[in-house]
Amino acid sequence: MSDEPEARILLVEDEVALADGVVRGLTAEGFAVEVAHDGLAGLEKARDESIDAIVLDIMLPGMNGYRICRALREEGVGTPILMLTAKQGEYDEAEALDTGADDFLSKPFSYVVLVARLRALLRRSADGRAQPIVIGDLSLDPLARTCRRGATDISLTTREYELLEALMRKPGQVVGKQDLLEKVWGDDFEGDPNVVEVYIGYLRRKIDRPFGRNDIETVRGVGYRIRAGDDD
Ligand code: CA
Repeated sequence: MSDEPEARILLVEDEVALADGVVRGLTAEGFAVEVAHDGLAGLEKARDESIDAIVLDIMLPGMNGYRICRALREEGVGTPILMLTAKQGEYDEAEALDTGADDFLSKPFSYVVLVARLRALLRRSADGRAQPIVIGDLSLDPLARTCRRGATDISLTTREYELLEALMRKPGQVVGKQDLLEKVWGDDFEGDPNVVEVYIGYLRRKIDRPFGRNDIETVRGVGYRIRAGDDD
């Protein structure tokens, strides 16, 4: 057994006793658990990309679970969300799914069921991450960590691959330089942040220029964006 947690879970639940119980239960199962006791703190923590799944109560002070879920999806945060519905009502459940939740569980629930549902969500999410990422004729295979433009295989270094994957997972959206730095070089990187620019240059020489393309755009003072397939 390794000491690495199985996954990082964010629990957003204002009932402190219930939250404490869930934290104990999930920690005993090998998960690392973060807790937020109100909606706004929950939304803030949910934006952290190192969170693997979110357990989200609906009735919360500050901002309710439906609004948090909708806000996250609108921001492009795709972390799987399991909503805790208070009553056995179809209304709750339909609304939870409608806001972009992946699953729901009605209170009161057993930890065994919660853990099983979470593991199922995490598996589905891992399968999703393993699917090829395709933008126009450019594609990445996250399992093989390979890159192709049309029929041409492009050889990328680990950093180049990770940088391109970070951009391709958010097609058409600007990804901040600092975000890229943390994602590809790690939170504790202490070198020159211009390394991002240098590697963007390497990528352009491999995936764009030989093909007469200019898909990686610089958004001055902000970061970089890869063109979505339809905005050429
Ligand atoms: Ca509540």
